[in-house]
Amino acid sequence: MSKDISRRSFLKGAAASMASVAAMGLVGAPVLASAEENWDLETDVLVVGGGGTGVSAAAEAAAAGVKVLVLEKSGIVGGTSNLSGGVMQAAGTKYQKEFTKYQDDTPENHAAVWIKEGEGLVDEELVKDLANGAPAHIDWLADTCGLKWTSIYGHCHIPYVEDEIMADRIHVYEGGGASGGGVIYVQAVWKYAQEQGAEMQMNTEVKKLVQDESGTVVGVIAEQDGKEIRVKANKGVILCTASVDQNREMAKRLSPQQYYDLDNGICLSVATDTGDGIRMGMEIGADVAGFGGCIDFCGKTGFGTDNRTPNFPSFIVNQNGFRFVCEDTTYAYHYRAIYQQCVALNGHTYMIFGKSSITESQAVASGYAPWSSEEAADAEVEAGTLFKGETIEELAEAIGVPAANLKAQLDLWNSYGESGEDLQFGRLTGVEPITGPFYAYQNIAYNLGALGGLKINVDTEVIDVNGNVIPHLYAAGLNAGGWIGPYYPGSGTAIIGTVHWGRKAGAKAAAN
Ligand SMILES: Cc1cc2nc3c(=O)[nH]c(=O)nc-3n(C[C@H](O)[C@H](O)[C@H](O)COP(=O)(O)OP(=O)(O)OC[C@H]3O[C@@H](n4cnc5c(N)ncnc54)[C@H](O)[C@@H]3O)c2cc1C
Repeated sequence: MSKDISRRSFLKGAAASMASVAAMGLVGAPVLASAEENWDLETDVLVVGGGGTGVSAAAEAAAAGVKVLVLEKSGIVGGTSNLSGGVMQAAGTKYQKEFTKYQDDTPENHAAVWIKEGEGLVDEELVKDLANGAPAHIDWLADTCGLKWTSIYGHCHIPYVEDEIMADRIHVYEGGGASGGGVIYVQAVWKYAQEQGAEMQMNTEVKKLVQDESGTVVGVIAEQDGKEIRVKANKGVILCTASVDQNREMAKRLSPQQYYDLDNGICLSVATDTGDGIRMGMEIGADVAGFGGCIDFCGKTGFGTDNRTPNFPSFIVNQNGFRFVCEDTTYAYHYRAIYQQCVALNGHTYMIFGKSSITESQAVASGYAPWSSEEAADAEVEAGTLFKGETIEELAEAIGVPAANLKAQLDLWNSYGESGEDLQFGRLTGVEPITGPFYAYQNIAYNLGALGGLKINVDTEVIDVNGNVIPHLYAAGLNAGGWIGPYYPGSGTAIIGTVHWGRKAGAKAAAN
């Protein structure tokens, strides 16, 4: 692209973007570097954000032999990636062959699942690139970074995805799997990045991107120790600051489900993930993609997180007392429906179960057993976190749903329980009769972050609102959008995305 065209498209892009988003009050004015710019620091590749994506980008860029600096807003490496279980999806790996019955699985099948789950809203080229790249990252993490893969499981079904393309693809490394295990992959990758010469400065919040007159991104303005610093990036800036997770204002404009969760759920992302990279990109005319959904699950029961454990006998009803979704589908699929019902009926949804659920079948997802005895359930009733009724009508009154509806739904459920076949939603596990006393748990979304970010091409270059590349600007991980659809397609998608898009961005920027 010639400098003139690039400059023109930058101005057009910035103008259009500013018209739409500055009016939203989200962004400020672009900063142009002057000829006599005084820079405080200089590097080749500048990585903004030191989470899983940032360290992956730093590792790859530094391995290519260029100078790499990571600026991190908080005081520690890792971001939300630290809090994750660190599990990662990939198809066709040697570990999948070793640990599962899926001997002939392929990245093509994997991409087909993700594309279906994307419901026509994903960038298929990005999804295929991620599925194709994933197996090599699994090997790289073992062979180069020292992780030890120990097991693999699958994500729960989705009503419209064919069984033939589903497979166990969620790779677990030693020490990973449960919340907090993500520290291990972050540290392993960051150790390797440091060995390659990458450096990081903490407590440094990047505030703005700086462009030259052609529109090329040449550096950033950051705040460190209460002072403004200007950092020059000769080869490119990679934005790795996640999505709009903890930013109420941006979520309100861009991600309705995230916005709802910030007021009605529990957002577990780190407090520093406030959509800064997305805002900075928009400020200079970047387009956005993939907004709308988020990663929601039931932190109380863990339902739908794991295809090894059946959901216990229970069903979820809306404020009218009726079921509306298949409850043993992958968590974010049924949590999207929960969100929609809460909004549509301006109410809550409840998981209904009975004493029979507790005493006859205590199978709940691994690691979660909130009501493993009647005493435990009754203690929660006492504490006000669970509702109880000796009869279903009494329970209906306690939660404020029409008793006749809830009774009809229970009778219908129990008829399915007798036959073992859920004719309403095709649930596969825990379809057993429920007898009282009855309990109701008000569903609360445990939110693991928003989906959606800056629009990128398959080389992680940021695209402006006119469809042109913004020179020397890259976005990766959850800071980039379009590679995940309107709900989260199962555990292990985000973290493999941090490694894939981070490494790609690092390599691409280093090559400038
Ligand atoms: C409890 C929990 C469990 C999870 N488990 C899994 C799992 O097992 N598998 C999976 O695939 N996904 C999982 N997820 C989701 C996954 O962890 C995240 O989607 C992913 O880690 C995001 O990675 P990231 O690199 O994009 O962002 P982060 O890891 O959050 O990194 C972003 C970094 O940018 C920094 N930053 C922000 N703004 C600025 C700024 N202006 N200047 C400088 N730095 C800045 C932040 O401080 C942060 O360190 C889980 C999430 C949670 C909360």
